[in-house]
Amino acid sequence: MELAQESRLKSETQDSIVLLAPMTGLVVPLADVPDPVFAEGMLGDGIGIDPLEGKLVAPCEGVVTHLARTGHALTLQTTQGAEILLHIGIDTVDLNGQGFAAKVAQGARVKAGDILIEFDQDFVATKAPSLVSIVAVANADVFEIVERPGETRRGMIRIGEPLLVLRSKTAVSGASKAHAQAQPLHAADVPQASREITLAVAGGLHARPAARAREAARGLDARIEVCHGRRCASIESVVGLMGLGAGEGAAVEVRAVGADAAAAVDAVVRELLREVHGELEETPARVASPAPRPAAVMAGVPADPNTLAGVCAAPGIAVGTLTRWDDTQFDLPEAGSGTPAAESRLLDRALATVDAQLNSTVRDASQRGAVGEAGIFAVHRVLLEDPTLIDTARDLISLGKSAGFAWREAIRAQIGVLANVEDMLLAERAADLRDIEKRVLRELGYGQQNARALPDDAVLAATEFTPSDLSSLDRKRVAALVMAGGGATSHAAIIARQLGIPALVAVGDALHAIPDGTQVVVDASAGRIEYAPTALDVERARLERQRLAGVREANRRVSQEAASTADGRAIEVAANIATLDDARTAIENGADAVGLLRTELLFIHRETAPSAREHCASYQAIVDALQGRCAIIRTLDVGADKEVPYLTLPPEANPALGLRGVRLAQVRPDLLDDQLRGLIEVEPHGSVRILLPMVTDANELMRLRAHIDELGRAAGRTDPIEVGVMIEVPSAALLADQLARHADFLSIGTNDLTQYTLAMDRCQPDLAAQADGLHPAVLRLIEATTRGAAKYGKWVGVCGALAGDPLAVPLLVGLGVTELSVDPVAVPGIKARVRRLDYQLCRQRALDALELDSAQAVRAASREIWPLD
Ligand code: PEP
Ligand code: MG
Repeated sequence: MELAQESRLKSETQDSIVLLAPMTGLVVPLADVPDPVFAEGMLGDGIGIDPLEGKLVAPCEGVVTHLARTGHALTLQTTQGAEILLHIGIDTVDLNGQGFAAKVAQGARVKAGDILIEFDQDFVATKAPSLVSIVAVANADVFEIVERPGETRRGMIRIGEPLLVLRSKTAVSGASKAHAQAQPLHAADVPQASREITLAVAGGLHARPAARAREAARGLDARIEVCHGRRCASIESVVGLMGLGAGEGAAVEVRAVGADAAAAVDAVVRELLREVHGELEETPARVASPAPRPAAVMAGVPADPNTLAGVCAAPGIAVGTLTRWDDTQFDLPEAGSGTPAAESRLLDRALATVDAQLNSTVRDASQRGAVGEAGIFAVHRVLLEDPTLIDTARDLISLGKSAGFAWREAIRAQIGVLANVEDMLLAERAADLRDIEKRVLRELGYGQQNARALPDDAVLAATEFTPSDLSSLDRKRVAALVMAGGGATSHAAIIARQLGIPALVAVGDALHAIPDGTQVVVDASAGRIEYAPTALDVERARLERQRLAGVREANRRVSQEAASTADGRAIEVAANIATLDDARTAIENGADAVGLLRTELLFIHRETAPSAREHCASYQAIVDALQGRCAIIRTLDVGADKEVPYLTLPPEANPALGLRGVRLAQVRPDLLDDQLRGLIEVEPHGSVRILLPMVTDANELMRLRAHIDELGRAAGRTDPIEVGVMIEVPSAALLADQLARHADFLSIGTNDLTQYTLAMDRCQPDLAAQADGLHPAVLRLIEATTRGAAKYGKWVGVCGALAGDPLAVPLLVGLGVTELSVDPVAVPGIKARVRRLDYQLCRQRALDALELDSAQAVRAASREIWPLD
């Protein structure tokens, strides 16, 4: 290196960094680089070089934080924290490593001028679109380019000549400080405090003590590392600390530099010497589910060692092969479909959402006094922000990988490190990483496992199915769904009912102990799963299935006819649908109308929100399929258990109480407006009724109604637009008369009404059996609704799951409900049930039920008066 450059290098201040040319070649301004991803600065500001020699050297001192597996690119982190991306050629990732030879390993510390990668210039030139290589600043939020000596000169530049000068945007910004703290001390750093200790903590330096040690040093002005043998890891990186492989009794050294070095070493040492026992047996993947319950607890039957109890989410009985769904791999695209910046945002959003979920899990667990459980998930939160994981993922994203792929690789790399540590207990901590791997991938929308080959009559078992899991199922092969967690009114349960697949939720952890491939009998209606049944049990289940199939067939034969009670009260039996396919199924099953079209699916499987025209086209296709029947179409109800990944909504502490339903329009009015415009255009006009979810009071309704009318006028509509209100918030039920004055009809969403009346999360498995819509409090609100509506002569329907519950049907009819909207496949059965009722009797008994003291009492009374098939 020439003297002048060397002295310039030495004259770098804390804030400025000189990057020397890492290649000899022709300088290419970034805007002229023949790849828009680079040219438009999506990977960061920088410069191009068209190389004349096949070698890439370090432009400055730093650590190789990421080396592409294919050897064509790497990221170097300077001592000040700038991340420099060095990328040889365009689209060279496709060469899969051919022609490249990395001369350093990931993690290596290098000096300016050290050789990093050699490459076969002729080979790469003929195989790739261009040899132009890029030097870019990947963390442009923290560092900016302030001078471009290489570019001003233009033409040739040689290795070691000044290329770019960077400066930190914020000399000591929180981000850069945190980043700097995440690095182990430099070789040149002389620790200002250090101590050697023997680890006392039970099980060694695994995730929880590592997280506690990190927490203990928080806020102190010091960079701290822990060393074991020849390896050191920053206190900021829990995965780095776990990767040291320091088991119980291992000798470690804690070292620190900075103003608070001594206090920091003391604080960390104190944590590492604490003897905390009883943490190692906890298995994170399982603790989220309720404890196993013998069937007897819930079903009132003698305890049977081969039977587990659960809560019925979709009725039916099935015999099949237990097939674990949780253990399958995620099918991820390697390349990102968006720009690196977009993929990075996706990852950030997924991490933030998972963090919010874990936060509420920790809170719930602490409130229940489940300290161990809370501790595990608190550590998962720490892992989520681990700089080693996040930096690795970001490096991969900056190289064009998808957010999901990058996250998985980052996790796997650390699992690989743990696999090499000798301490078995530490190696097992990989389970923590796997758990957050899955959670984040699911949040990124990779829950689908289409490629999975299922056995015939598969009984799929999982902790919980996501709606996207279910939308990709091969329905013909699935006999039943069984979940350790979940709730009977969760979206997964709703979808199971729509698919007509028997489903059992809240079975508990014991479900995980049933081996894959075991024959099981699932009697979802009775809330039980029997594993390893006797031949007699199987035979009995098959006979019962046959009998139920016979009843279903008889009901189907008369399902196209309208239903009224024996004493002549007409009850419309409509269908809840989400897709065009569902609409066809609804018609085949004799639905009189569509009582609820949930439009969330239209928003979910996309990258951007649908336009007004797309909305209109989707609804028009459904209305056309209904052959003259009317469709009640609900506007978007995302939030809480219904997520739409591309809506950049901030995570909420209580999503069920947040920006759900029409409240979303407060922050994204465009989404509702486009949907309303689409709805207004559907022909013939009277075929669509608009339904507004999560309305709280009449004032809100009046504003929305006026807005809909205004949009109607703008679209040239002169006929009235029918608008209904979902009654799913207690305030709406209590104010039903006021709402009925301004609405054309009311539709009770008993799933949410139950959740909000009883203050029981509809997805909380521990409460699944108690969150029952037949609770007298919910029934009283239903009665208040029908009474309020009657004042203004408006009709009331029920579109929540209660409408399809045979024990609830007589009571709803008795309370004055005249429309029941149920899953399409349930229509024939509900019509048959209605035909056998006497309205006057229903009325009397429903009023009696309002006086009962529990949901169980209501169920028992209903069963006695109106026995099930
Ligand atoms: C309900 O809450 O009962 C309802 C029908 O809406 P969803 O289940 O979609 O929240
Ligand atoms: Mg609802």
